[in-house]
Amino acid sequence: MAGLLASSCRVVPDADDADVLVINTCAFITPAVEEAIDAILDGAAWRAARSGRRLVVAGCLPSRYGDDLVRELPEVDAFVPVADEERIAHVIAALVGQPPPAQTLLDAPRAAPGATAYLKISDGCDRRCSYCTIPAIRGPYRSRTADDIVAEATTLLEREVREIVLVGQDITRWGSDLPDSPRLAGLVRRLAALDGDYRIRMMYVQPDGIHDELLQTMVEHERVCRYLEVPVQHASRSVLRAMGRGGDGEALLSLVDRIRSALPDVVLRTTVMLGFPGETRADVAELAAFLEAARFDYVGVFAFSPEDGTRAASLPDQVPARTRRARAQRIRDLADRIGTAKAAEWVGRTVRVLVEGEEDGLVASRTCGQAPEIDGLTLFSGSSRPGTFVTVRIVDAHGYDLFAEAMT
Ligand code: SF4
Repeated sequence: MAGLLASSCRVVPDADDADVLVINTCAFITPAVEEAIDAILDGAAWRAARSGRRLVVAGCLPSRYGDDLVRELPEVDAFVPVADEERIAHVIAALVGQPPPAQTLLDAPRAAPGATAYLKISDGCDRRCSYCTIPAIRGPYRSRTADDIVAEATTLLEREVREIVLVGQDITRWGSDLPDSPRLAGLVRRLAALDGDYRIRMMYVQPDGIHDELLQTMVEHERVCRYLEVPVQHASRSVLRAMGRGGDGEALLSLVDRIRSALPDVVLRTTVMLGFPGETRADVAELAAFLEAARFDYVGVFAFSPEDGTRAASLPDQVPARTRRARAQRIRDLADRIGTAKAAEWVGRTVRVLVEGEEDGLVASRTCGQAPEIDGLTLFSGSSRPGTFVTVRIVDAHGYDLFAEAMT
């Protein structure tokens, strides 16, 4: 959105210097909704402090609550739900009395400078997990065409992006709604054949979409990070069934084995949810045993949040909030013990890292095994420029962060 605004507005980092404030919101669970509402109330105070100021609320909150928000937040001048995000510049032009700008998404300059960019290859989801608001917020699954995605990737590389992170709610289903049903592996091969020094990362790879063809593509293309984020959510068959996801711990463990046999050095991240309705202590024990056996490098651990409009919110046998949080903490501690031990296994390895910037006087970079924003960093002394690749030797690990010496 900031890129789309660049030709018609000056984007300023401080709200005090702005005439229009855009609050981009998340709304998939109650804590995110509360955070968004707090930010909007702060925005309303900002708006009231000087006449002529305009407040815009974009993203998932207006998609989820629609007209209810319009009624309850009269301080907001315009709502821009997800489906209208590409119209942000038009909405703001209308608010401030300017003619509509002509810029399209592909022409828009990158708003966030940096060596890494997210490339959305699809939006929406058809899976209907019983706890999830996302299909209702973001709509049915829609793939972008391969040509469109490749064009955006080419533009990103021209703008000195060195890591392209493929995202979507469910990227393994990419292409299923397009003519001739192209598959993700073919798209990744096309992206890996572009000119330049760069790498590709895949996030949100659903367990049932990991086919041998995709693993083979990762084996054959060095540019594709040997890293997969595979959200499993649980390991108990009954909990997974109630979640509307299916499968069980045994099937998930054999998937992990299949991935590691193809890619022995792969880094695996997953997400699990604790305290789903009906979850017993035995189910939690089963999940703990699964995580001990699977040894993921990173685990995002969440407590179940009963969301209005989802089937899970009205299931019987709801787990009390305190128990949900306690179970999540227990599993988080377990996952941290395994994950930090796995991070320590990197010591002694020589790896290529992408420099992102600086942290505490050290160069901050990431290996292929470290995704932006959510995983650890690799830190070393020196003065490498952001956006360059450097070969380093890992000499130490603290928690999830690695410490290294530059070799080049
Ligand atoms: S696959 Fe992900 S986005 Fe889709 S319904 Fe399930 S949890 Fe939600």
